[in-house]
Amino acid sequence: MTETCLFCRIVAGGIPSTKVREDDQVLAIRDIAPQAPTHVLVMPRRHVASLADLTDGDAALLGRIFAVAAEIARDEGIEAEGYRIVANHGRAAGQSVDHLHFHLLGGRDLAWPPG
Ligand code: AMP
Repeated sequence: MTETCLFCRIVAGGIPSTKVREDDQVLAIRDIAPQAPTHVLVMPRRHVASLADLTDGDAALLGRIFAVAAEIARDEGIEAEGYRIVANHGRAAGQSVDHLHFHLLGGRDLAWPPG
């Protein structure tokens, strides 16, 4: 937990969010500015600043994050049509919150390549 991290504060309950799913390792919330009919952010409870900070020791955590995302996609009814999971690292990719999170996007056709 870092006091200045927005998502740490959401994990701790100090800032409200629309929770989709949570367990002892992972929290999933609706994005405040959705870019698709389903736009959920799946994040570790523990503060990890970005993809670049992941280590081999995070393998189980990452497995859990992707399993949770797949469960949410199923629940949201977007599995059959298709969905995208994306994480941004750094300025050029548009990372705006320095707490690792994976965007789960679906419910519409998604262009490729992304902008
Ligand atoms: P990124 O730009 O990849 O770091 O993604 C950060 C995401 O967090 C953006 O899609 C924002 O819309 C979203 N976001 C920012 N503040 C909140 C919040 N308080 N609750 C939910 N999502 C948020």
